[in-house]
Amino acid sequence: MAIHGPTLPRLSRLEMIAHAVAAGDREACGLVGYDRHGSVARVYCLSNVHADPDKFLLDPAEHFATIQAAEAKGWAIGAVFHSHPFGPPYPSPTDLTAPLDPHWISFIVSPTSDGWQVTAFSIRDGGCTELGVGEKTTQSLP
Ligand SMILES: [Zn+2]
Repeated sequence: MAIHGPTLPRLSRLEMIAHAVAAGDREACGLVGYDRHGSVARVYCLSNVHADPDKFLLDPAEHFATIQAAEAKGWAIGAVFHSHPFGPPYPSPTDLTAPLDPHWISFIVSPTSDGWQVTAFSIRDGGCTELGVGEKTTQSLP
């Protein structure tokens, strides 16, 4: 499988941010499909079914359907994203203990004083490495 890089197309970043904004005080979450060249093919915005608004759990049925939809196009899921509506812009202790797949990139969407940012991390073995910060998006979103 191609190595998935932290590079996010602008539209993909905006899709994650819009999903995060729409979720309000709750964490928003989703998956990222990559094409066979390792480029982002599509962002899938999923429902967060965790009872705790400060945690996330991908809706299991949507999770399964997303994997099937991506594989049907010859893509692979290579990243998960979720938001921290009140920060911080890095993984929480909970995020570090339970990565969905240690080979995936974890994108965290969080607000900053001058816009929303999406930061990429590799989470494995109880720790994380920051892979890069996407450029900030300063246009106003509802
Ligand atoms: Zn988190």
